Amino acid sequence: MTSFTIPYNKPYLSGNETKYIVDAVKSGKISGNGIFTQRCHQFFQTRYRFPKVLLTTSCTDALEMAAILADIQPGDEVIVPSYTFVSTALAFVRQGASIVFADSSLENPNLDIRQLEALISPRTKAIVPVHYAGVACNMDPIMALANRYNLLVIEDAAQAIDGYYKGKPLGSIGHLAAFSFHETKNIISGEGGMLVINDERFFRRAEIIWEKGTNRSEFFRGEVDTYGWVDIGSSFLPSEIVSAFLYAQLENLDDIQKRRIALWNYYYQALEPLANTGAFRLPVLPDYSSNNAHLFYLICQNETDRSRLIDTLKAEGILAVFHYLSLHRSHYYQAKHDGRVLPFADTYADCLVRLPLFYELSFAEIDRIVNLINSLYSKEVYVEAVHHYGQL
Ligand SMILES: *Cc1c(COP(=O)(O)O)cnc(C)c1O
Repeated sequence: MTSFTIPYNKPYLSGNETKYIVDAVKSGKISGNGIFTQRCHQFFQTRYRFPKVLLTTSCTDALEMAAILADIQPGDEVIVPSYTFVSTALAFVRQGASIVFADSSLENPNLDIRQLEALISPRTKAIVPVHYAGVACNMDPIMALANRYNLLVIEDAAQAIDGYYKGKPLGSIGHLAAFSFHETKNIISGEGGMLVINDERFFRRAEIIWEKGTNRSEFFRGEVDTYGWVDIGSSFLPSEIVSAFLYAQLENLDDIQKRRIALWNYYYQALEPLANTGAFRLPVLPDYSSNNAHLFYLICQNETDRSRLIDTLKAEGILAVFHYLSLHRSHYYQAKHDGRVLPFADTYADCLVRLPLFYELSFAEIDRIVNLINSLYSKEVYVEAVHHYGQL
């Protein structure tokens, strides 16, 4: 086994995580929807003006709740980008949906708005835009199409914490939105997630689905005398131990974001000269999107280049990783896909590489990574090889 001197990710403890877990344990209430869960809910509702939020045990769970709320039935179609994590599609597949995969755009891995309307059919129920790398999808045209065709929009905002579209918080624009606090994301709780409910039609039912199909939340608030089984649902709420951890992270959200953005900008400036020679592409931020510095990625010219880059860094103990295989070519969904070719999704699957980015990464470590990349691309034999590939 190779051991890495610079890992791809390192979960960051911001200070009070273990203290708050101890507080939760000592309070005697460690099941869900206690004080720390309420504090987290309050934080999000205040900071981002989300009308209603519910912490979940993962973003996958939040997406499953969204699929239930959207009342997805067998035969319904849901539009999902192909270049995303499995859960974006899986949550809807579990309800019986057929997934209609959208291609990525030329500029970034987010779904291509220009091709979206052509994917809508009389069976379409929902669109699930993914804000890849925390970069906003172009939400205005998506919402306009959804209004015209009476569709729900569920933002997969797993990577999009503290990201903005034209000044609006990501997660506040669709009818529903799902966030992740998995240890690879900016704000973490090991496993964890959150459903945002922007459309008040779903407020009551969301709480019931969250609490195993019961109206227990209403009972806790003293709104009903007894509670019981009123709908379908599952156990989607996290324990107070997880919420306590998350709350400590939220207290340090600004500090975490500031650090990540500084590291991201440092990478960008350091790699820009080489990118300008055409060696690879750097991320492009549309003017409607903020940068939440979730990922720093490069788009190599081809898969061979990417492997060479990953191997060069690996030989020096640095872990850089590629990301999704397009879901329309996945083992599970390939045979169910309608056969359309999605060239941009495939390009990102083959050519995108993510560089280490985590709170405790140092600028000196970025220098090391950038120097290795620079020397790789300046090798004469390599330049010839690129020239050769270019002619094929
Ligand atoms: C991380 C991620 C998920 C899944 O999040 P979990 O909290 O691990 O369930 C879903 N969609 C996208 C785009 C992600 O990046």
